[in-house]
Amino acid sequence: MRRREQIERLLLEGLKSHYEISVVVGVPVVTVLNVESELSPKPPILRAVCPDCGMLVVLPCCACEAQAEAKSPSMLEIVPPLKPIGLDLKPNHYKRYVAVLKRRGMSALVDQINGDSHPEAPLQ
Ligand SMILES: [Zn+2]
Repeated sequence: MRRREQIERLLLEGLKSHYEISVVVGVPVVTVLNVESELSPKPPILRAVCPDCGMLVVLPCCACEAQAEAKSPSMLEIVPPLKPIGLDLKPNHYKRYVAVLKRRGMSALVDQINGDSHPEAPLQ
């Protein structure tokens, strides 16, 4: 018990590292750490049922936040370049690129590309 009080006093002084205290008192470093954690116990992690997904989580629920962010307009506003940057696509690959743009609802962009004319790949 005397050692514990000595560790507590040295910890409260705050002048020595955990290792230095362990050498001075003659105990393993883990003992100093244990005494320190008992002096200032950490608050328990509070978990709750997420109102959206129903999982037991630390609120706010990271999974639901990530899903909401992925669906937000800001993520949909990422507009690909009119032509793939730095790529000289073969006509069939260029058609595929345009098809993907159409599938993603970027028909206006496809119209711009059509106006820009790709001689080897006439687009629809
Ligand atoms: Zn959730």
